[in-house]
Amino acid sequence: MLALVLEKTKQLNLRPVELDETVGDHDVRIRIHTVGICGSDVHYYQHGRIGPFVVKEPMILGHEASGIVEEVGAAVTHLKPGDRVCMEPGIPDPNSRATRLGIYNLDPQVRFWATPPIHGCLRPTVVHPAPFTFKIPDNVSFAEAAMVEPLAVGMHAANKAAIRPGDVAVVIGAGPIGMVTALAALAGGASSIVIADVQQPKLDLAATLGPITPVNVSRQNLKDAVDAATDGWGADVVFEASGNARAAAAVFEPLCPGGRVVFIGMPNEPIAYDVVGASVKEARVEHVFRYAHVYPRALALMHSGKIDVKPLITDAFSFEESIEAFDFATHMPARSVKAQIVLQQ
Ligand code: ZN
Repeated sequence: MLALVLEKTKQLNLRPVELDETVGDHDVRIRIHTVGICGSDVHYYQHGRIGPFVVKEPMILGHEASGIVEEVGAAVTHLKPGDRVCMEPGIPDPNSRATRLGIYNLDPQVRFWATPPIHGCLRPTVVHPAPFTFKIPDNVSFAEAAMVEPLAVGMHAANKAAIRPGDVAVVIGAGPIGMVTALAALAGGASSIVIADVQQPKLDLAATLGPITPVNVSRQNLKDAVDAATDGWGADVVFEASGNARAAAAVFEPLCPGGRVVFIGMPNEPIAYDVVGASVKEARVEHVFRYAHVYPRALALMHSGKIDVKPLITDAFSFEESIEAFDFATHMPARSVKAQIVLQQ
């Protein structure tokens, strides 16, 4: 089958790949419809590695996908051919200690699409475990369903923050993950969000998504803006979604006493963690790595209309334009948030 293959750093090919995939009793075969391009895909393309994960052999990219069920295994009961679905890209060992503890996203044996050496989903079909394949509500499009993957990260972060009704939250970074984190926090009960970035077009878009105040930190101080919005008390929750080391080092500044911080972004270098800044506020600090069983709730929020990701889907490319799409995503214009590759019309 034709697939988008990362041969090595900075070399992509749309070329035939031999994949021998049989549908086991608990599997489904899915015809891929839409695949979102993630920052991690672009990072592998440009740098060939993310932390300990190194591309050593050609690897198919893509992990944010929706599609149509083509074939189901003998033991599959909740899906049938023709069903519209989206897929959770990380498959843990069901018998692992992490899985039994309910933290399967942390299973060291997890096989995650487009994380070396596991092939991703930028190809016509995939075989996937049915328990990690979710039916899409009728009023949710394939494009929106391919956004469930990044949205799941934002929802996991909102869960970790233990959002309470009326919280004021800060989101640092207005990229796709920052945007979906803001939406997840609002859906979870936050009364308002202050979102920080340096790209004005992204901030302008964020401001249209709900009670979200944009702060351009290239010309405005974040703490001052949060103080103005909270009578000087600070934000109940601060989400770090920029992955910028300097921004990450300053997370405790806009936080209220007793507040919560969630680190989502992964800075390329170690950050200057402000222990004293955290101590004097008794900050509760959380970290996230992907998500665990968030898809059904993400789809439910899309179905009910409480979360609308459509404004975040800014650019679409055909499968034939995949390499062009990745070059576009590598030099993403400030107005763009999420680019997707559409494999079928
Ligand atoms: Zn992703």
